[in-house]
Amino acid sequence: MSRSRRLRPGLTLTAAFAALAAAGACASGPETPGRDGARAPAAPWRYDVTLEPDGRLSVVATFPADSSTELGVDRAVEPFVDRVARAAGPEGDPRWEPVPRRNGRWILADDDRPRRVRFTVDLASLAGTSDPRAITSAAARGDDEGWAWLAPPSTWLLRPLGGPPGAPVTLAVRTPPGTAFVSGVAPHPGDPGARRFDADAIGRLSFTALGAMTVRQIELGGGAVTIAILPGERRMTDDEIVAWVEGGLRALVAFYGRLPVGHAAVIVDPGAPDGLIARARGGEGASVYLPIGSRSTLASLADDWTLVHELVHLACPEVDRRHHWLEEGLATYVEPIARVLAGDLEVEDHWRDLIEGLPQGLPEAGDRGLDRTATWGRTYWGGALFCLLADVEIRERTGNAKGLRDALRAVIDEGGSIASFWRMEQLLRVADDGAGTDVLRGLWERTRHDPHPVDLDELFARLGVRLDRGRVVFDDDAPLAAIRRAMTATE
Ligand SMILES: [Zn+2]
Repeated sequence: MSRSRRLRPGLTLTAAFAALAAAGACASGPETPGRDGARAPAAPWRYDVTLEPDGRLSVVATFPADSSTELGVDRAVEPFVDRVARAAGPEGDPRWEPVPRRNGRWILADDDRPRRVRFTVDLASLAGTSDPRAITSAAARGDDEGWAWLAPPSTWLLRPLGGPPGAPVTLAVRTPPGTAFVSGVAPHPGDPGARRFDADAIGRLSFTALGAMTVRQIELGGGAVTIAILPGERRMTDDEIVAWVEGGLRALVAFYGRLPVGHAAVIVDPGAPDGLIARARGGEGASVYLPIGSRSTLASLADDWTLVHELVHLACPEVDRRHHWLEEGLATYVEPIARVLAGDLEVEDHWRDLIEGLPQGLPEAGDRGLDRTATWGRTYWGGALFCLLADVEIRERTGNAKGLRDALRAVIDEGGSIASFWRMEQLLRVADDGAGTDVLRGLWERTRHDPHPVDLDELFARLGVRLDRGRVVFDDDAPLAAIRRAMTATE
């Protein structure tokens, strides 16, 4: 019996992809990445944050003398920032002086005193006035038993506006008993209570949650994953949710040989309102947000592809926006293979999805190359077709000794992950080197600007796979049958 790859009743694979595309795609990268270029080392900032039981954040921040004297925060957050004051003297001096506010900014006097500032942010009120779908601004989950907030640090860190760039930021968060702080930014090895990131990244940091939630740490594949389960009505037990996430992680490790990042956070949201989709987010770390729906069960999630799709995103560096098709194509192509390798998907179902799905990635009239036509079909299935063609060509050129899997493993071995931004040329070169060919660079040259139509019937015939009245039939005498088998073979 074939698995129906339905996310939830009424939402098919294709519809779900369309939902992803409509929501602006599920791997959220920077609009204008720019981490390269030399710069002088900037002096560090530090934030010590305490989550109060009433959902208020009390923050003490220290900024260097060369930082801007104007402090600001996202406009929607301004009304919820209060009691901004500056230390009147050195540490230990109990006096604090209010910081004046002008035009939505708090202005520090430009003098020699330390720039030690304290303030509060009423996170509970901020999230209470926000759309519950606003998971990258501030969204609340919970009830009288306890509240948690999905709120990235950009919504609660008052910060110097403008230069100098590149300041290293240390963030330490304390939470009351029974609550937690979870972030895709890894705890700092030398200071496990703190996270460190670049000040320029504050506006696009990994998913972050604070408050009442279940938190489990699991280690596998050479890395650590923090699983947070937000409050919300649900049918599944915590153990079942953790087992489901762990199953997805095992599929990821089955494909890549290990966890692609040293640390990741997976935030599960049973109380998510309709319309929210699973997403992966880098931003100085690695995180996945998973709305599961209050009625989900372990059985209903067994056929769900979104968890592994998002986890595969963790293994790919962020690239320039015009190459987004590669990020989505890799996730679309690798996800079912990873699940086959883990024993969670029948190989027939993998090929059925390719036969049924890939035609949607072919260029339509007027379409240009993958870097130039960013429709849903070209992004997800066009990207997946690029991956299939690359996998086949690498295997043909190496006598079936290497495949796309080897190329992608080389990327994570070079430190590539969603936590990093790579140029396309770098990504393809490292991947090509991993397979000992130049297949990816050559294929990109042929497909980036030009439509590059592909005869899929001919390709599937060479691979020895076809659909016969809905049933997948393999032909092991086909010229590329050994390559087809190797693509989903365990090592
Ligand atoms: Zn995706």
